[in-house]
Amino acid sequence: MENLILIAPPLAGKGTISKILENMYGYRCISTGVLLRREIKINGKYRKRIEQKQLNGELIDDEIVNELFEQELKKNTRHFILDGYPRNINQAKHLDELLNQLDIEINKVILLDISYDLAHKRLLGRCSCPKCKKVYNTESDELKPKFENLCDECKLPLEKRLDDNEETLKKRYDNYETITKKVISYYEEKQKLYWVDSSISTSKTIEQIKEILGEIHD
Ligand code: AMP
Repeated sequence: MENLILIAPPLAGKGTISKILENMYGYRCISTGVLLRREIKINGKYRKRIEQKQLNGELIDDEIVNELFEQELKKNTRHFILDGYPRNINQAKHLDELLNQLDIEINKVILLDISYDLAHKRLLGRCSCPKCKKVYNTESDELKPKFENLCDECKLPLEKRLDDNEETLKKRYDNYETITKKVISYYEEKQKLYWVDSSISTSKTIEQIKEILGEIHD
């Protein structure tokens, strides 16, 4: 089985898609966004240096992200999906060195593409369960909760992410355009990049990814 990276602008569905792939194929999902939010929640040593920047939609210092990521990866290096890491060239080079030491490699990098306008529309509807963390979107027929604003499983009221607002969306999308797109070129040069249209529906996105992974999962 292969090791994957998902790269995407905000609201393209990285979290939702990686969870589905985790359930379908048993990948281990590592999301730096989740690791950073967890560091705030447990009042970890980097809480202060993360909190304001994350709320403002800014990228967190490489030193912190690399450390939290490395700790998490080393717990278990079985086939994984990286969600939201690397997000700049420095992180991509750090990842290369780390994987070199561990004698593992990234096989495929999947770019989930959506426009700014669609990210904006999805922003209005995204919410998640505070307990099981399942992500819903009231703007999508596929991702709507069964009962208004309640988790299908836990029946708890759904919450919005604190950094999901119009102002931070602009910054996050801009960071993607100016910084993360360089990571896309980095993997394109290594011939590892696969483009996926993530604008139609979750099931259509999964269909395209299955085709990309096809030869290893048939
Ligand atoms: P995400 O959950 O992927 O949307 O990430 C939410 C926020 O966490 C981002 O807007 C950044 O503030 C921060 N973040 C997540 N991953 C990274 C990363 N690889 N490098 C820097 N900041 C990150």
